[in-house]
Amino acid sequence: MPFEPEGSRSFDVLVVGAGPAGLAATVRASGEGRKVGLVDDNPDLGGQIWRGERPKPGNPEAASWFRKVREADFEALPGTRVVGPAGPNALLAESGGRAVELRYRALVLATGARELFLPFPGWTLPNVVGAGGLQALVKSGLPIEGKSVVVAGSGPLLLAVGALLKKKGAVVRAIAEQAPMGRLVRFGLGLWSEPARLRQALRLRLDLGGVPYRAGCWPVEALGDDTVRSVRLTDGRSTWSVNCDYLACGFGLVPNLELPTILGCETRDGASVVDDWERTTVPEVYCAGESAGIGGLEAALLEGQVAGLAAAGKGDEARSLFRARDRAGRFARSLGRTFALRDELKYLARPDTIVCRCEDVTAGALAGRTSWVDAKLQTRCGMGPCQGRICGAAAGFLYGWPRGSIRPPLFPVGVACLGSELSAVSGQRSAGEEM
Ligand SMILES: Cc1cc2nc3c(=O)[nH]c(=O)nc-3n(C[C@H](O)[C@H](O)[C@H](O)COP(=O)(O)OP(=O)(O)OC[C@H]3O[C@@H](n4cnc5c(N)ncnc54)[C@H](O)[C@@H]3O)c2cc1C
Repeated sequence: MPFEPEGSRSFDVLVVGAGPAGLAATVRASGEGRKVGLVDDNPDLGGQIWRGERPKPGNPEAASWFRKVREADFEALPGTRVVGPAGPNALLAESGGRAVELRYRALVLATGARELFLPFPGWTLPNVVGAGGLQALVKSGLPIEGKSVVVAGSGPLLLAVGALLKKKGAVVRAIAEQAPMGRLVRFGLGLWSEPARLRQALRLRLDLGGVPYRAGCWPVEALGDDTVRSVRLTDGRSTWSVNCDYLACGFGLVPNLELPTILGCETRDGASVVDDWERTTVPEVYCAGESAGIGGLEAALLEGQVAGLAAAGKGDEARSLFRARDRAGRFARSLGRTFALRDELKYLARPDTIVCRCEDVTAGALAGRTSWVDAKLQTRCGMGPCQGRICGAAAGFLYGWPRGSIRPPLFPVGVACLGSELSAVSGQRSAGEEM
């Protein structure tokens, strides 16, 4: 007997992802009697930076968007994770252990990004955590007061994390940015034509007063026993140790492309391919925010608005946002060039350094493998619960292996959901066979 999803919902516009891009898309798509749905796997709206802020937004921009969200007419489905397609114009999601079918006329994918972690000796020690991961833990109550923290990796997120940790009473012993100082200075000079961003950067610098910030510097080893005790940093000429209770590490962001990919949307250079209206290569499927290319908050909000308007059939209204959206995109590209990762980071792992944490696959075991598929078949790299979300991106950078095909379910699911997924696949197959 085929498993059937326990519920089925239909929307004119369905938005997946309730970060800034998804919220903006929802607000702009709603109205005029349209049925708009917003799905997110978290219990609260807001995405990576505004999650948990709805009752008391941390800044005027978040407050203004949450006000618009309150006034908009849509159905929110929090705690609902999309795990794959469920036939034409339908997705399969899991909510509270139950399978739900979500049907749509137009779909906006705003699935955001995750951090890029690169393997180096000791990176799997307890308390070596993602920079954004530690930020999220502290925001949700992890006591950090008096703890020594080193923040390392690359990108502006390191500054935001350092500032938050300092505000919460941590002793931030160093921020190690791998990008060379020359590039950062050039980027900083470019900010004179962007007064709002310049103000933001200066505010962050002020918040970080007294915290040592070192450019052209990266971690080579984390040392410890039952937890991390210190990190060895290098500037390529000398190496030194800094004691710490936490090492917060992140080497930039990677778009979450699993859902666009499984729906057949073309991707290029690690992002969904979209046109001016944020349309993907699949009809009636739009993509906005970090999943359409790492661009930061402003780009996410603008792209989300364009996608929401276009998905709701208001493409002409979207045109007025093109200029601002394209300007934000140019800024994002200059960020990308500034924080491009140096080659030295490809050679930090030793043969016994674990690359795939789920399946304990070491760098030594991956030596001689020729592709991601070869690595999966021969070593089980990327075959564990995270399905290569962490090691797949690392292997892309270290060995130049593209990820290849993605299979449903996108996340580990309960048997009810898995059964629905199988039924959807076999239904598609037999429909195909009849043709
Ligand atoms: C860990 C981390 C920390 C960050 N911290 C900062 C910061 O401090 N300051 C800053 O300016 N920028 C920060 N950023 C960047 C910031 O996320 C973006 O600039 C902005 O939030 C992008 O918005 P978005 O809507 O594209 O994605 P997000 O805000 O990431 O929202 C995407 C949402 O989609 C959900 N989702 C994804 N897949 C599914 C699925 N299959 N089913 C259901 N829901 C799904 C996710 O759970 C998430 O809630 C951070 C990024 C990360 C990854």
